Parts: sequence; C-alpha cells; structure tokens
Amino acid sequence: MQTENMYDTDKENLNDSSNSSKNGKTQVSTSPKHIFNQQRTDYLQWEDYFMSVALLSAQRSKDPNKQVGACIVNQENKIVSIGYNGMPMGCNDSEMPWCKSDPENKLNSKYLYVCHAEMNAILNKNSSDVKNCRIYVTLFPCNECAKLIIQSGIKTVIFKTRTAGKKYFVSFEATQKLFEMAGVEFRRYLPQREEVVLDLGMVRVRTAFVSWKGWKS
Ligand SMILES: [Zn+2]
Repeated sequence: MQTENMYDTDKENLNDSSNSSKNGKTQVSTSPKHIFNQQRTDYLQWEDYFMSVALLSAQRSKDPNKQVGACIVNQENKIVSIGYNGMPMGCNDSEMPWCKSDPENKLNSKYLYVCHAEMNAILNKNSSDVKNCRIYVTLFPCNECAKLIIQSGIKTVIFKTRTAGKKYFVSFEATQKLFEMAGVEFRRYLPQREEVVLDLGMVRVRTAFVSWKGWKS
C-alpha cells in the first residue's frame, strides 16, 4: 500500500538501487522507490471492470422499478457501446408512463415504450458492428433483446442476475432456447471482488507529483 510518507521521502531515495548484491546474494530493496516500481495488484479484473460499467450505466435509468445496464466489448477488450433502459429519443421522460400497468388505461404501461439496455447498447455502438462481441448485462436478456443480440452477431452474454417478476419467466425461457439454438454462449457473471467504490466527493491531483503554484483547493 502506498502512503503519504512514501512520497515525502522520494528525494532521499532517488539513487537507491531496487536490487543490490551482497555476499553473492540478491537482496530485494524495500525502499520506497522499489515499491513505487511495482505494479498494483488490486487493479480491476476485466470481468469486474465491464460489469461495473454496466452497473454504472444502469444508474442513468429513470425507471423507478428496474434499472438495467449493458456494456458491449469487442475481442480486443475494448468497450464499443453501453446502454441502459429508457424511453426512446425525443419522448419526454417526464410525460411517459413509468408504471407497469394501469387498469383504467392500457396505454399507461412502461412496457409499451421503454427501450431495454441491450437494445440501446446495440443501436448506439461506436463501431461499425458488434459481431463476435460479448455483452455484459445486469439482468438476463428478455426474448426481444435475445433476438437483437443474435441478429447483431454478439456471441457471448454475461449476466449478473436472472431474478425478475413472473412476467419474465416465459421470456427468459424463450431467450435460453434462442441462445442455445443460435449458438450464443451465456453465463452468469462471477465477481472477483465484493464491491467497487467510486468516490466522487473530491478529485485532486497529489501535490507530490504536481507543484503548480497557482493550485487552489
Ligand atoms: Zn429486453
């Protein structure tokens, strides 16, 4: 773990050798400089990274009941699109219904209007296509999104949960059937860590690295 003291003593150790030989044996220096030269070991693994992006995207959703996110990644581990569930472009979110059903007006149901996260991610891609890509989704895709996933050429689906209301049971079964027939691999996401914490409270460059006199906190 890096500490403030480490930066404070950087100057004293500029000429330190990370490894030194004594009595024919190589000794590993524990000087701050040596520690600084080592890579971090607690960095985000790919799977955690991409699912985190999907989860973060879900936070953009205005749906009061279900927030879903998706992240599409190509074979080079590059993100080519993200998406979350929301109303179509040009449709005023504040004027659209967000309830599941309204016995007095069948048109007052979000299901008739909301674009799912997978749909938005596929349509909003920043690459020419998403062939052979994989998609990270916070919720197992419904059968409508399954069709889109298959037709777009996505080959792998990594989902976080398959828990949803009864309405989706048949839909999920159809999705599974479609994926199996079309040869789309799907698997549950296995996290390598419990949580990812994002501190948005303050972003400040360490003064040990930057000595800009005009800096004002
Ligand atoms: Zn869907």
